Amino acid sequence: MLGFSIPKLLLLLIILLIIWNLFKFLEKKSKSRALNEQKDQYDEEDLTECIECGTFVSKTEKKRCNICTNAFKK
Ligand SMILES: [Zn+2]
Repeated sequence: MLGFSIPKLLLLLIILLIIWNLFKFLEKKSKSRALNEQKDQYDEEDLTECIECGTFVSKTEKKRCNICTNAFKK
């Protein structure tokens, strides 16, 4: 049998299963991390349109972008 015995084949199969599960685990882990990063990015970029010019600004800027705020001051 080309030097292969049943115990060796079983051992090889177990090793393959461990590697397969490890890859699946790592893939799942990186996927969930990517999703979390995407969610964080979305939360940070919570945008709203500027009421003056329609430029997207963050909600902390009170619906008016820097450009319009500066123009208004002049
Ligand atoms: Zn504006």
